[in-house]
Amino acid sequence: MNGFVIAIDGPAGAGKSSVSKRVAQRLGFALVDTGALYRCVALCALDAGADPGDDRALGALASAAEISFRTETTTNRVFLNDAEVTERIRLPAVSALASKVSAQPAVRAGLLDQQRRLGQKPPGAVLEGRDIGTVVFPDAQLKVFLTASPQERARRRAADLQAAGEPVDLLELTAQIAERDERDSSRAHAPLKCADDGLELVSDGLTLDEVVARIVGWAKQRGAA
Ligand code: C5P
Repeated sequence: MNGFVIAIDGPAGAGKSSVSKRVAQRLGFALVDTGALYRCVALCALDAGADPGDDRALGALASAAEISFRTETTTNRVFLNDAEVTERIRLPAVSALASKVSAQPAVRAGLLDQQRRLGQKPPGAVLEGRDIGTVVFPDAQLKVFLTASPQERARRRAADLQAAGEPVDLLELTAQIAERDERDSSRAHAPLKCADDGLELVSDGLTLDEVVARIVGWAKQRGAA
């Protein structure tokens, strides 16, 4: 029997990770960070020296990658072929390449089964990504399109980097976010967009708790235990 599926899609920096983690905790659901799967394929491509334009080679890497998650209180640890890659997949070079490899149809196809398998766990799962409600789980019981203005997203990313002691250039961050948005929403395959039956939630001016409460409320209205 399949569980209750909550799709949380939206652009980079909208708060999907923090929101999804808390929604999953509140409902006792599994958490699937699908961006981590694309990041793992990008990491495989970097390690193998694969050409980011070689659809077939990247598709083969995507199909062969065995990715799993271990959710702990504060971190969602990611394993690629049994090696922990939680930190490596967040390196800027991997972020940039993930957005490129994710435009390749063979990569998207290669990761589809893996996402469906990870998302079909009773009592339910929260999947965060870009095309969960439109492609991966078009029958999800709840589809949320979580977004925020580019300025707000750049500001939040800057605060995260500052907290980690990293240098911050707000203008450059805003430009990077706009570039990734453009690439993700204009690609031919599975572009970033709200599903026709999705609920759009703009998080500017809302606290994390308010966003989480709204999504948990919608899930309960639709029958999540
Ligand atoms: O969410 P995150 O920033 O970790 O995702 C990394 C990249 O993977 C994104 O830039 C996006 O291009 C891609 N992605 C995707 N479809 C998903 C999840 C992520 O194309 N479902």
